[in-house]
Amino acid sequence: MTNAAAATPVPTEKTLADLTEGEVLAQIFPRLPQADTELVGPGDDAAVLSVTDGRFVVTCDMMIQGPDFRLAWSTPHDLGWKAAATNLSDVAAMGARPTALVVAIAAPPSTPISVILGIADGLRDGCAALAPGCGVVGGDLSASDALTLSITAFGDLEGRSPVLRSGAAAGDIVAHAGRLGDAGIGLGLLFRLGVDEHGVPSRELADTLKASRPEVVAAQLAPVPPIHLGAVAALAGASAMLDVSDGLAIDAGRLARASGVGIDFESATLGAQPELALNGGEDHGLLATFPPDAPLPEGFRRLGLVTDQAGTVLVDGRPHTQGGWDPYRGWDGAVL
Ligand SMILES: [Mg+2]
Repeated sequence: MTNAAAATPVPTEKTLADLTEGEVLAQIFPRLPQADTELVGPGDDAAVLSVTDGRFVVTCDMMIQGPDFRLAWSTPHDLGWKAAATNLSDVAAMGARPTALVVAIAAPPSTPISVILGIADGLRDGCAALAPGCGVVGGDLSASDALTLSITAFGDLEGRSPVLRSGAAAGDIVAHAGRLGDAGIGLGLLFRLGVDEHGVPSRELADTLKASRPEVVAAQLAPVPPIHLGAVAALAGASAMLDVSDGLAIDAGRLARASGVGIDFESATLGAQPELALNGGEDHGLLATFPPDAPLPEGFRRLGLVTDQAGTVLVDGRPHTQGGWDPYRGWDGAVL
């Protein structure tokens, strides 16, 4: 008896080790979003961008397999999307409009090409959804033991002054745009229920969670921060701003110290479980302060007031014990 299945070789997917860098790039380039500001794009030694302002905003953020993501939980598309989202939100937090990304990827040679192409697709879809007109204008490929993405993002101030962390004044309104706590809840669920009995991240268990709690798991793996509201806040006169990456309380403390003020949150504005809103990180919403006489722009919600108690974060006038994410200490939240 012949075995047809055994006679037909199973097509195995090409890995990075099977292809030259040029062959990989030839597959990546057509997937990448083009930047409206691009004068010279990928393919030369460096890109050339146009700017309408004499200043530009630049930032970078890295994502490393292990500390920052697990391939059992995140799809390659999620990784590209999240890498775009986290960098775009830092540009937005300066009051700028994101214009371009430069992407460096290091991966084990055994990485299937579909992983790299999935990341490229996530970058494209993330830019299209969150910052239309922002494109990938260059990058680099290298080999490493851990899959690593390093993104540099550029932004245009369009003639506005940058909104710094240091501009808040006592009496200003504290406001936030975006989700609060959902990404942290999603990560907490993944750490509790997305691992097998040995604590190893499991794709199957993560898929079950994605089906049962899609909102909060997606908020963690592929966040949708309100990037366009950074420029809106700047135009509305925001006095200080930052994106909430490590937790509302931790990031409010950064703004408070930079401005030499205090922040007093009103717990009634923080939802049914204020601790989740205060301690959950990675939602990448925008925390901003506005002068008391300025109407809050649409999309921002009042959370409290700026006080003159330098460097303090209060909730209903009482000190808040900070929790949140620290890359060297891990989760320090009371809840997660
Ligand atoms: Mg930031």
